Amino acid sequence: MLDSEKLKLGLQLPLMEAFYTIQGEGAQTGNAAFFIRIGGCDVGCYWCDVKESWNPDLHPVTDTDDIVSKVIESKAASVVVTGGEPLIYNLDYLCKRINERNIKLFLETSGAWPLSGKWDWLCLSPKRNKEPLDENYNKADELKVIIFNESDFEWAEECALKVNDKCLLLLQPEWSNRDVMMLKIVDYILRNPKWRMSLQSHKYMGIP
Ligand code: SF4
Repeated sequence: MLDSEKLKLGLQLPLMEAFYTIQGEGAQTGNAAFFIRIGGCDVGCYWCDVKESWNPDLHPVTDTDDIVSKVIESKAASVVVTGGEPLIYNLDYLCKRINERNIKLFLETSGAWPLSGKWDWLCLSPKRNKEPLDENYNKADELKVIIFNESDFEWAEECALKVNDKCLLLLQPEWSNRDVMMLKIVDYILRNPKWRMSLQSHKYMGIP
């Protein structure tokens, strides 16, 4: 079988890194989780803090079974699949193999590609450069909007209108502009308490 066919079937994925750590941001902050960071992203946020993930050719195409072996070796009870933009790839096989082990599966996505895989928790982090597919809003358990400037509050509210009633709503300051935006988010949440604050606590802790 050609490698490209294996990629199409999700039997291989371009793996940027895989590591066991503590979830630093979003609704699951503080929980131990094994992170699988898949290379490749076409969204192009100019403030992106993982630009090295963008070019999929820089990341070794890896057998999904080998990725699953790393998860099992870690003995983690939860896995976070992130990127890059992981939904560029077919994640059905990865999820099937991890689900067999009764390990919880969490997805971090911009939602700009069709959903694949079966997830216990879907964190939708919409980006203005390439908006989520309409069909993905309703599937989110958590909407995490990155706030870089004041106009992002309006964007956050537009996105919040499209998610389901149970979806948690989080605002997170973009890291390079956090000193300015964190206080603006505090003020905004006090006036609009349906929102919660998300901080990139792993960066404060100095862990991946
Ligand atoms: Fe970076 Fe994520 Fe934006 Fe892609 S979607 S450019 S990985 S912040």
